[in-house]
Amino acid sequence: MSRPFSRYHNNCPRCPVLGAEDIPSDEYYNLKWMRLNINIAREMVNGRTPVRVEPGALKRWLEHTRIDPQHVTHVPLNVGPGLKVTLPGGCGEPIIDGNHRAARSLREGKNFFVYVFDEAETLQILRRSMGTHLADLIWSALAESRPHPDDL
Ligand SMILES: [Zn+2]
Repeated sequence: MSRPFSRYHNNCPRCPVLGAEDIPSDEYYNLKWMRLNINIAREMVNGRTPVRVEPGALKRWLEHTRIDPQHVTHVPLNVGPGLKVTLPGGCGEPIIDGNHRAARSLREGKNFFVYVFDEAETLQILRRSMGTHLADLIWSALAESRPHPDDL
C-alpha cells in the first residue's frame, strides 16, 4: 500500500499522528474563555444514557462550529456518542466532542447521540480543566450574561 509521507493518518492534521496511537494525550475544547478537557469529561460519562440530538438543532449547531470538511470523511460512524455540556445563563449547550462525527452522521442521515452534562457537571469539568478560581470567574460571568434570542 502506498501512502504519501505524512506525520498524520490521511495526511490530515485532525487525524491521529502515525505511530502515536498508544500515547494518550489530552484533548481540549476551547470556547470563548473556556478550556474544557475532553478526557476529564469522558471520565465522567459513567453509566449515563446517550441522548439523540434532533437533526435541525444539530444542523444549526454545526453551522456555527469549525468543521474540517476533509476530516468528516475520516471519522468512523460507529465510535460512540459525543459530549454535550450545559452553560449557565442561557449561554447554550455546546457539543464539545464529536462534531466531525456529528457532521458525518447528519450528512448520511444517521442519528447522532451525545452524553449530556448538566450545569453542575459542566462546572465540575471546567474546574478540573482550568482550576477552581478561573473556572468560577468564567462561570459567574456566563451566568450573569443575557441570553441571546437565537439561543432559545
Ligand atoms: Zn482526518
